[in-house]
Amino acid sequence: MGIATVNPATGETLKSFEPLSAEEIEVKLALGSATFKQYRKIPLEQRSQWLKAAADILERDQRKFGEIMTLEMGKPIKSAIAEVNKCALVCRYYADHAADFLKDVPVTTDGSRSFIRYQPMGIILAVMPWNYPFWQVFRFAAPALMAGNVGILKHASNVPQSALAIEAILTEAGFPAGAFQTLLIGASQVESIMKDDRVKAATLTGSEPAGASLAATAGKQIKKTVLELGGSDPFIVLESADIEAAATTAVTARLLNNGQSCIAAKRFILVESVADRFEQLLVEKFQALKIGDPMLEDTDIGPLATPSMLLEISQQVQETVTKGGKILTGGQVISDRPGNFYPPTILTDIPVDSPGYSDEFFGPVALLFRVKDLDEAIELANSTIFGLGASGWTTDTAQQERLIEEIEAGCVFINGMVKSDPRLPFGGIKRSGYGRELSIQGMQEFLNVKTVWIK
Ligand code: NAP
Repeated sequence: MGIATVNPATGETLKSFEPLSAEEIEVKLALGSATFKQYRKIPLEQRSQWLKAAADILERDQRKFGEIMTLEMGKPIKSAIAEVNKCALVCRYYADHAADFLKDVPVTTDGSRSFIRYQPMGIILAVMPWNYPFWQVFRFAAPALMAGNVGILKHASNVPQSALAIEAILTEAGFPAGAFQTLLIGASQVESIMKDDRVKAATLTGSEPAGASLAATAGKQIKKTVLELGGSDPFIVLESADIEAAATTAVTARLLNNGQSCIAAKRFILVESVADRFEQLLVEKFQALKIGDPMLEDTDIGPLATPSMLLEISQQVQETVTKGGKILTGGQVISDRPGNFYPPTILTDIPVDSPGYSDEFFGPVALLFRVKDLDEAIELANSTIFGLGASGWTTDTAQQERLIEEIEAGCVFINGMVKSDPRLPFGGIKRSGYGRELSIQGMQEFLNVKTVWIK
């Protein structure tokens, strides 16, 4: 598939784009490089005004931008509009806090004066996925632009109109030409851009193979990368949990964005004493959801983003069942309508040698596991190559502390679902990647930390 908008609810190709030629890429890199030299000197106050203007545009046209996302990757319109508003939030967050994050930090040494100064690096490449077409980009762009960096975006090939809309928003907001550019290119064109001297660093959100490939190229060029990759987050429910609240949250935690979220709860780890009740509630709640046209306000579950995502999830379920897994609800591709529809599905009795035990399930499938106690729960939670997030449900503070201390992940949420928030660092460990986005840490990833010592 080339660069195109294909409606996942109908399978219809709506718009195709030619990838940029080498000459066109050169023009964009030259512009980005020239812009950086001026842009880094623009007062923070001005950058902050532009970013706030971008937030205003996002809020003003939230429905229009939401519809672009829904059309291109199938998320229900109410989630798409919420995503647009969250982008406005991250713009305002960095517009308000950048001055504080970027100020010189005095340090007492043997010099008469010494301090740390934060400086921008130049062109930063962002390689982004389709699952949160606006949010993934704004959470990169807002801190990068406030820090004085300039951005180039290689967005996923199935969300070109989202990519172009984001560039248009930042241009309308007042950012100079070249401060943020969308490059409509395929994945194979990324390597030569990463090797270009004018590109100083990169951030990639996506799959492990894509991350490994970009990081290998960057490594050979001694360039920094931030990688946000896959996840198979545990959702652990212990004896003292409020089971009703846990089950209600579990539905959103698993099925938000049609189940295509890196930080979705994917493995539900239940102690025996609560497992029957939780399982029954989850089945009831999954069966009550409305599957359908993602443009309708009351749709809970739209199509998966691409036919290959549909194929992958249905094969993973099939293979898990063939190995002995049991389906409690769902489990069959919805074939009586066009589009990539898969129902909310729950699997249990998952064998160790099946995909359900070890793979990331990037779709609306909950994997249930029963354990004896907290020790077993933590062991199972950590028995994955991933380490993005974890959610633990217990009112026992000693158990909470053990989850916080012993779970191998970039974040632990207690009695709530894992979510991103501009104020909190976001990122993973193990094969979920490295580096952080959001908060002050997200901004610092692409800054030169310059030490200054004066006698
Ligand atoms: P993907 O295939 O890796 O695509 C992500 C981006 O990388 C796209 O722009 C893609 O371009 C590009 N790409 C693919 N191969 C590349 C390569 N060899 N070199 C450079 N760029 C390359 O990922 P996906 O299947 O669309 O997304 C699902 C994965 O992303 C899941 O594993 C999910 O968990 C992860 N994800 C992680 C986070 C996080 O924050 N940790 C957030 C969202 C998603 P093309 O579209 O042109 O191929």
